[in-house]
Amino acid sequence: MPAHKGAWLRHSLRGKITLGYYAVAVAILVASVFFVGELRTLEARVVLGQRATDLFNTVLEIRRFERNYFLHHEAVDLEENARYIKLAQEMLTANRAGFSAIATQARLAQLRALLDDYQRRMSAFAAGGQQPVESFEPGVRSLGKEVVTIAEDMAALERRQIQTTLASFSTLLLGVIVCMALLIVLIGRALSLRVVGPLQEMEASVVAISTHRRESLSAPSNDREIISIIEAFNRMLKELDVRQKSLMRSERLASLGTMLSGVAHELNNPLSNISTSCQILQEEVGESDPATQRVYLAQIDQQTERARNIVRALLDFSREQAFRKESVLLKPLVTQTVGFVRGEVSAKSVVQLFIPEDLTVPADPQRLQQVFVNLIRNALEGLGPGGQIRISAQLKHVSGPPEGTALGSGCDGEGEVVEISVIDDGPGIAREILPRIFDPFFTTKEVGHGMGLGLFVVYEIVDEHDGCISVESTPGQGATFRIRLPSGKSRPRLSVGGKGES
Ligand code: ADP
Repeated sequence: MPAHKGAWLRHSLRGKITLGYYAVAVAILVASVFFVGELRTLEARVVLGQRATDLFNTVLEIRRFERNYFLHHEAVDLEENARYIKLAQEMLTANRAGFSAIATQARLAQLRALLDDYQRRMSAFAAGGQQPVESFEPGVRSLGKEVVTIAEDMAALERRQIQTTLASFSTLLLGVIVCMALLIVLIGRALSLRVVGPLQEMEASVVAISTHRRESLSAPSNDREIISIIEAFNRMLKELDVRQKSLMRSERLASLGTMLSGVAHELNNPLSNISTSCQILQEEVGESDPATQRVYLAQIDQQTERARNIVRALLDFSREQAFRKESVLLKPLVTQTVGFVRGEVSAKSVVQLFIPEDLTVPADPQRLQQVFVNLIRNALEGLGPGGQIRISAQLKHVSGPPEGTALGSGCDGEGEVVEISVIDDGPGIAREILPRIFDPFFTTKEVGHGMGLGLFVVYEIVDEHDGCISVESTPGQGATFRIRLPSGKSRPRLSVGGKGES
């Protein structure tokens, strides 16, 4: 077998399975050849047994006609007797080799000698010998008896031998069947270890990927099929990653649109403050004292810095950045985000914050802002006049998943988390769609009003932070979204499953 063919057999699942089948086929072939040989031997034994029986029957015929002759003295019986003696002699000659297996040479020679003697005496008597029947008959009878005894012994021995051969044949058959079954079980086990083993390793790796503990699959064996599945899977992961980034980008762009009027409003304040300060300075040129002028100039500087911060925050939000955690002061981030989505706030809606001033969370600020933009925008969209949104946050020790429908790798964790709640008193979410709202492209809004990516992106970001997001809602009474992010002080234990409902 050429070297590459051997490698193909060793390094491919198909090759290993084929090898297994070949091994079983060869074993079956060897067993079949062996049994055909054994059957031939058995067949020869049966034929020999038949011949030994024929000889015995012929000898009985000899004796039958001998007895008839001595009873009725009819010449025809004597003739038949002679014919059967000849037949028996021919049988002995023709089967000399075969009969040597059921009688010793000496015994065969004795049988032949007895037959010859018997024939001689009978033919002498038939030729009209002088001997009277009374003195001739006992000798012939005892000769005949001896012949019958030897022929009977031979036939009986052959029958016993056939029985022994049959018994050992069936034992052998049973043994071979058991061995074949064992061989098939062993080959099956070896195959399943080599095929199922790598598949189980792959399953564990896929679970690890889904819980962000791994980024790609590594080959658990060097079988061609496994390697090509791993390559295809890793290609698919890369492709998914690219597509997810592009989804995130489109969602971010959509959010930017939402934020535009809020940002314009936010910028308007410092700009009008700068403008007012400039006007006052212009009017008072040469009149006011330098100390007052410095106050106005400091205000202009302060407001310019404020405007610059707003523009920088917007730029940071719009720019695509690699995931990077830092300690984020929560309250200013949420306040700024509320300001950015202000354009969406109906004049009579109220957004209330209950966030400790010094509460920080280890997170990517840009992504966290995206989470707040999406949640606040969703809450605002359903609110009527007088509607309220309460955003609160607190450090909390948790054990076990939160109430409601919960998703994310940190849902089953135990430890200290920062829990952020966004509660609105809007229309709420119907029970039947609750489990689907985090699915990509799920929306209940009219075409052109929602892409259905907002909550999907929120889930992705929370999951990226090893956190957990849950939702509870009673239709007509609003909705509560709760986010748990590891506080970084004691890390929650991660659950194995990514998505769960409680
Ligand atoms: P979109 O806002 O583009 O529809 P989302 O993924 O943000 O996509 O939201 C999916 C769906 O979840 C919404 O269409 C809406 O039906 C429901 N939803 C989300 N947040 C709220 C909320 N605060 N109140 C009521 N329904 C909500």
